[in-house]
Amino acid sequence: MICPVCHKREATQDVVRYFGEYKTQGKVCSFCYEKALNLDANGFYNTFYADLQKSCRRCGRTLNQILNTMIVGCPHCYTQFATELEPLIKSVQSSEDDD
Ligand SMILES: [Zn+2]
Ligand SMILES: [Zn+2]
Repeated sequence: MICPVCHKREATQDVVRYFGEYKTQGKVCSFCYEKALNLDANGFYNTFYADLQKSCRRCGRTLNQILNTMIVGCPHCYTQFATELEPLIKSVQSSEDDD
């Protein structure tokens, strides 16, 4: 795949970031690795996952708001943002398993 930061080089490096208790990850080229490590949560999500302005059809909460607060607006948010929230939900479950 092409590096989502520069859109020029092949993505070869795994970047793993922890935002609070949430783990996120993506792939970038070696030139953008440092940059990806310095992105904030929103920047990281924007780059690797999805459009943050996408909103829940039921409660209207945006992905951006959910990531800022780490709180979903309604149960439908989980369905609506299943793809985007999947890595976060998984990381919470696996961190519980570790204990
Ligand atoms: Zn790059
Ligand atoms: Zn919702």
